[in-house]
Amino acid sequence: MAKLDQGPPNYKEMLPPIIKENYGTWRYHEIPRSGVLKHVSESGAALYSVRVATPRLVSIDFIRDVCTLADDYCDGFLRWTTRNNIEFLVSDEAKVNPLIDTLTAKGLCVGGTGAAISNIIHTQGWVHCHTPATDASGVVKAVMDDLYEYFDSMKLPAKLKMGLACCLNMCGSTHCSDIGIVGVHRTPPRIDHEKIRKGTEIPTLVASCPTGAIRPDPKNKSVIVNEDKCMYCGNCYTMSPAMEIYDPKNDGIAILIGGKVSNARSAPSFSRMVIPFLPNNPPRWPEVTDAIRDILELWIANAQRGERLGEWIERIGWERFFSLSGLPFSDMLIDDYIFARETFRTSAGFKF
Ligand code: SF4
Ligand code: SF4
Repeated sequence: MAKLDQGPPNYKEMLPPIIKENYGTWRYHEIPRSGVLKHVSESGAALYSVRVATPRLVSIDFIRDVCTLADDYCDGFLRWTTRNNIEFLVSDEAKVNPLIDTLTAKGLCVGGTGAAISNIIHTQGWVHCHTPATDASGVVKAVMDDLYEYFDSMKLPAKLKMGLACCLNMCGSTHCSDIGIVGVHRTPPRIDHEKIRKGTEIPTLVASCPTGAIRPDPKNKSVIVNEDKCMYCGNCYTMSPAMEIYDPKNDGIAILIGGKVSNARSAPSFSRMVIPFLPNNPPRWPEVTDAIRDILELWIANAQRGERLGEWIERIGWERFFSLSGLPFSDMLIDDYIFARETFRTSAGFKF
């Protein structure tokens, strides 16, 4: 059969020999030191994954350097994770510490395992996407620089997963992160009627709006936006450059907390909004880094060992969280108007 170049290659072709030989027979894993996962199989074979954070936007030179290190220390086997970490897959225990020494000497950060912050999963930001209300890698760099002490150690009450999405489309997993950083627009799109007439498919544009806020305006060969229905998501701008939504004064960041994907100890849960708006203040976003550090330190000071951020808040109650944190509470933060006017405790929907 002819070999085609369509579609991804079979992942099994790229597995390290130790994983192929012990496929399906891995018994347990442990964390011998921060940044290293040791997986042990029924045969007694052990694989060490050395985890390194990356800034996500990296140069070809950086990738070449990393691949050379993989050749030197682990027969060329490494993987990129969804959280923008690199894991070097080392099957020779004697090479683990020399690899870490080399990585550290190059200024790379080893950590993110166990009761630590893993690197922040994040999105495109101002560099690439159409609809961001904030940057992605810039905010992540500022936050992780501030919290680095919790990346290369394991002194948190439990693991902490953070996500950043630069608009409500939430390409980053902010809806189920311990701490979610979400870019929010706060003004409706500005319609350029001339551009609509010149090159926009109006039915597609109308269909792109999740709230039905856009309707055709046949008289003007354009559209009308019902601003009361608009939730400032920017989907229409994805469909047409005539619907610009950027607003330097009003775009910013909301903070959502308490979500998780894992079903260990308690059911998976969605994050909930606790800070509706912080300004974009590049290059170091001090309002955002301060707010996140405050929430983190409150959790560290009050949680039991093993208790994730949302589990701690569920135990003490959201009212108590707002009271301890000093964050202003408003009914705009309530996640379900029908049941939770005062309790903040029912469904997982959130309201901007
Ligand atoms: Fe683009 Fe929104 Fe995704 Fe950011 S979250 S990459 S702005 S679609
Ligand atoms: Fe509709 Fe979103 Fe555009 Fe508002 S920003 S008009 S809700 S698509």
